[in-house]
Amino acid sequence: MARKVCKDCNLIYEGDKCPNCGSQEYGDEVKGKVAILNPENSKIAKNMAKKSRGVYSIKN
Ligand SMILES: [Zn+2]
Repeated sequence: MARKVCKDCNLIYEGDKCPNCGSQEYGDEVKGKVAILNPENSKIAKNMAKKSRGVYSIKN
């Protein structure tokens, strides 16, 4: 199954809908990605305002 990129939270996932926010709006462009494994301790997570662990795409 192809990977999808959630348009709402940028989480990269496989399946029918985003497991993070439940959105079914997705794209397939992945220009870059970042894994957030420890959201509470991650500077990247803070910069991206993400609070859930996962792999997110970077659009810029
Ligand atoms: Zn999402």
